Amino acid sequence: MLKFENVNYSYNNNPLLSNISFTVKQGEFVFMIGKSGSGKSTILKLVNLIERPTSGEIEFDIYKYKEVRTREIPKIRRKIGMIFQDFKFLSDRNIFDNLSYILEITGTKSGKVKKKVMEILTEVGIAHRQKAMINELSGGELQRAAIARAMLNQPKLLICDEPTGNLDNETSEEIMQLIYKINQKGTTILFTTHNLLLITNNSRVLELKNGTILEKLDTYFD
Ligand code: ADP
Ligand code: MG
Repeated sequence: MLKFENVNYSYNNNPLLSNISFTVKQGEFVFMIGKSGSGKSTILKLVNLIERPTSGEIEFDIYKYKEVRTREIPKIRRKIGMIFQDFKFLSDRNIFDNLSYILEITGTKSGKVKKKVMEILTEVGIAHRQKAMINELSGGELQRAAIARAMLNQPKLLICDEPTGNLDNETSEEIMQLIYKINQKGTTILFTTHNLLLITNNSRVLELKNGTILEKLDTYFD
């Protein structure tokens, strides 16, 4: 469902990624690890069409990115949910309104918005906080809300850019469990982190190192 083939990416003529090739299958949970500055976020930006490669091909779902036109990008992005370390919510609105406006701008009929938002808030365990303002929520509640927002349009792929980076261990574990649950319901996950403790033994792991990518086939990390 996602394929990078010999992808190169430079900015200001500085090569950051070279010959990146990997495939993610429908339904997989893939960790991407690498030091700070190794290019993890850039790979996710390439997936999300925020950045375009210098050369090489990326395919997602039915799309070959070389052939994608600018007007098609919003449609593709609706199939890709994204969560980050920081949450990017509108601070003058409550959680319900932060989610409902996403559905409104992406064309959901107004009669359906409330039901959909409450369903997804229930799924992530914060339906009781729907009226809370952003500054009243804990870090864990905010990340749950961010996951709910990312899942609103039922994306095929959820890309997670170090989403537990600012959370304590116990809250990180709760968020990981929630993302595992989303994966078990069928959403493909690409998850970047530099915290190797998050990785359970049976997960697939790709490592970014010196601008290129390696498949880790065992659970020994150096
Ligand atoms: P990671 O997420 O692994 O920490 P990033 O993908 O954020 O790594 O970035 C790798 C490096 O490349 C960083 O030093 C970043 O500043 C730089 N970089 C990547 N793309 C750009 C860009 N478009 N403009 C400026 N700097 C960039
Ligand atoms: Mg990053």
